[in-house]
Parts: sequence; C-alpha cells; structure tokens
Amino acid sequence: MKSFWLVLCLSVMVWADAHIFIYHRFNDSRYPTTNTTLEELRKEFDYFKKNGYKVIPLEKLVNALHNKETIPDNWVVLTIDDNYKSFYEHGLALFKEYNYPFSMFVYVGATEQKYGDFMSWNQLKEIAKYGSLEFHSMNHPHMTELNDEALKKDFDEGLALFEKRLGIKPRYFSYPFGEFSPRVKNIATSYGFQAILNQTMGAVASFSDPLDLDRSALVGKSDLGGFLKYKALETTWFEPTFLGEDGKLTSLHVKAQTNATKGGIYISEHGYQEVSLSDGIFKAELNKILTKERTRVIVSVGNKISTKLLVKDKFSK
Ligand SMILES: [Zn+2]
Repeated sequence: MKSFWLVLCLSVMVWADAHIFIYHRFNDSRYPTTNTTLEELRKEFDYFKKNGYKVIPLEKLVNALHNKETIPDNWVVLTIDDNYKSFYEHGLALFKEYNYPFSMFVYVGATEQKYGDFMSWNQLKEIAKYGSLEFHSMNHPHMTELNDEALKKDFDEGLALFEKRLGIKPRYFSYPFGEFSPRVKNIATSYGFQAILNQTMGAVASFSDPLDLDRSALVGKSDLGGFLKYKALETTWFEPTFLGEDGKLTSLHVKAQTNATKGGIYISEHGYQEVSLSDGIFKAELNKILTKERTRVIVSVGNKISTKLLVKDKFSK
C-alpha cells in the first residue's frame, strides 16, 4: 500500500505542469511575427475553455512555486510583453469577455516618451483593473550587450519611473527579447523580483525556478495544442551555461531526473540528434561554432523538455 501511494505521488509530481504564454500585439497586421489576430485569440480562448484549462493570474502560479505546492496540469497563465496600444484597443475586450486575467510587462521608456504604438500611463492605470502590470525594462535593450553598470542604470531608472507613474512596485520581470545570460540573470535577481520570465518554450512544474520561467509565444498561427503537450524535464545544466564571444560550443552535459534510456538533443541551426541516456545523463561532444547571437539548446525525453537559450555575452567571465 505504501509503495502504491509513493508511485501515485511521484507520478502526480512528474505530470503536474502549467504553461505560460506570451502575446505581443493584437489585430495589428503590420507586424505579422508578433501579432495575434482577434480570430486567433478567440480560438485559443475557446480551446482553453473547451479543454478544461484554467486561466489563472501569474501571481497564483508564482505563489504556488514559492510555497512548493503541486502545480495542476491544467493551469495556464497569459502574459503580454510590451505595452502596445493594440492591446488596449483590441485585445483587452476579449480578455474581459472571457474574464481571463493577464500580466502585462511594461517597457517604461516607450510610454514615458509617448511612442505612438504604446499605451499612455493613464491607459495602463485603466487596464490594471483587469490584470497586473510588471516590469520589462526602461529602454528595452539587448541586455547581454550592456556592461554591469549600464544594465543597473536601466533597472534603476526604469523601476523608479514605473513606481512614480503607476504608484506600485512591480513584482515580476521579463527580459526584453527574452535574452539573458547568467550575468544578466544575477543582476536582475538582485532587484528582488519574485519571478523572472524568459521567452523559451517549455512548461512549468513544481521544481521550476521562479526566477527562470519558460514561456511560449502565441503569435501568428500558433500551435497551441502542441505547446500544451510539452512537459517540464527536471534538469541540472553543467554545460553549456553561457556563450562567450567566440561562439564556441564544445560539449553538452546535462543531468535529468529520468529513468529513460533514450533522449534527444536539439540545437537551433544544427538540428536534432538522439542520444543514449544512462542515469539521466546527457553527454555529447559538440565542437560547434555558433554564429548566431542566440542559440536554443533543448534536451528532451519524450514530450518532456528543458531548454537553454545561449546568448553571446562578452561581459561574462
Ligand atoms: Zn519586449
């Protein structure tokens, strides 16, 4: 009896995953790669409804992670990066109709400078009745390209202005372009955010790091059903952890919590390879030179994945 309960508990732990999605622009055909039409949005919202998914506030997921609670596998969190006016003009009405909460990550400088495509401070205050407002930087830089001092300046200025204009402190942060390195993460973490979100496809389970939460982008004609099938693979990444200026990717060494004997390694631009696993250890000599500024490395076992985005950071040691 005891062992049955143990197995049951373990399987619940293994399968308990949530998904966080990102939107950018709504009904704005000028930017097809970051746009979601209202027809698509309605299709996605109906999909959640019909298939028993529960759209919850980000706060509920973050609190559950901090409290080490089991994460139900039907939880969905909706986030919006960049405070585009198209959300206020088009997207918001649908969120209200379905009564779906959201967290919007605010590019502070764009609203302050009154950039045409962005919401005003008053519009932001108005939408805060339906969702939460969080931080997405002052100047929307490629953060790995800033030295420590410049990076801290962006956080300091942006956070001060966010608080001054909106009267609240943001609790969560998302990286501009989803780009970061361990150095950028350390600096972001020093600001005391309860959660930090990337833009790396994946799922969220009870073992997920609240300061490195994966999100999948729902733009264009998205494969929502496909994204929802992914589960989180619990891993420790020994190598690679960051990408130097030379772009050298020598080897991969990741330990996963799995008994499986076969797994996969995917590297963007280089494709997929199957590997044998023993004790959950992924080991491969790669000896590749990565020419892109950012490269995605995914290790997988079946539909469970763990993703690392490598972004060149010349300021990392
Ligand atoms: Zn952004």
